Amino acid sequence: MTNEVILQVKDLKTYFTVDEGLVKAVDGVSFDLHKGETLGIVGESGSGKSVTNLSVINLIPTPPGKIAGGQVLFHGKDLLAMPQAEIRQIRGNKISMIFQDPMTSLNPFLKVSTQMIETIVLHQGLDKDAAKQKAIEMLKLAGIPAPEKRIDQYPHQFSGGMRQRVMIAMSLSCNPEILIADEPTSALDVTIQAQILEIMQELTKRLGTAVILITHSLGVVAGTCDTLCVMYAGRIVERGPTDVIFEDPKHPYTKGLIRSVPRLDVENSERLYSIQGQPPNVIDLPDCCPFYPRCEKAMDICKKKYPAIANFEQGRAVSCWLYSGAKDE
Ligand code: SF4
Repeated sequence: MTNEVILQVKDLKTYFTVDEGLVKAVDGVSFDLHKGETLGIVGESGSGKSVTNLSVINLIPTPPGKIAGGQVLFHGKDLLAMPQAEIRQIRGNKISMIFQDPMTSLNPFLKVSTQMIETIVLHQGLDKDAAKQKAIEMLKLAGIPAPEKRIDQYPHQFSGGMRQRVMIAMSLSCNPEILIADEPTSALDVTIQAQILEIMQELTKRLGTAVILITHSLGVVAGTCDTLCVMYAGRIVERGPTDVIFEDPKHPYTKGLIRSVPRLDVENSERLYSIQGQPPNVIDLPDCCPFYPRCEKAMDICKKKYPAIANFEQGRAVSCWLYSGAKDE
């Protein structure tokens, strides 16, 4: 990871209008991504992590969705203000994506070779033979055995783990600067998950690719991500270096998430902790701390105002009245 910032997300707001009201799926999210950095975005379902990343690459279906504000600066150019033709040159080329289920991205009717070669020819300008060689090389790097033969198979001829390896190879085949991986291992069993994360980490480090890793699992970000953003109800509630947050979590939600991760290195016969209650209904959320019904530390002010951001050393930021200097009212 270097000091060069390649992506700046500034006060991003993405809203959806539904029959019941307004869903502020992303409401004022900001973060920087550095060259070669792996940034984890963690939160429960509905916290806004996937919508954040679909917004970053300008893929929000409009209607019902709408980017209601903010900027996404890629090398200083706002992706949200860019014509579609221009952003299509960036998507899949400079910024690439992997989703939870590779079958949503792979065309089941086309051989892997056809799909990979097409992408490489389109974005890299290579001829078909050179593109095929590049595709085979990438499949090999992603750990596909006998890639010269398997490249001519269809997606259904690969297992779930192997399909995700194909997706990793395909998404990195154009040397993107950023890889967005949205729950890349959630559909896989635990041993395969570890292999896929390892191969993704190894390849992106080798190629110098920055990664935004979206997951609901803190176990996935530990040991994988340099930086961590914890999202709750459409906002980032805690941000900072991953190891520092694991060592000393500040926000009560982050503390609860960390306490609920099973630990193999600690002898503990107690029942695993779980955060009480359910994530909030995000339709027409009131402007208070949305975590207060579940928070053991809640104060009166938490029910009245959204918490201000408190900044700490090492770029840490926490959105919680416990640190924002507010007195209970
Ligand atoms: Fe808990 Fe209040 Fe902090 Fe929200 S602002 S997390 S309710 S202490």
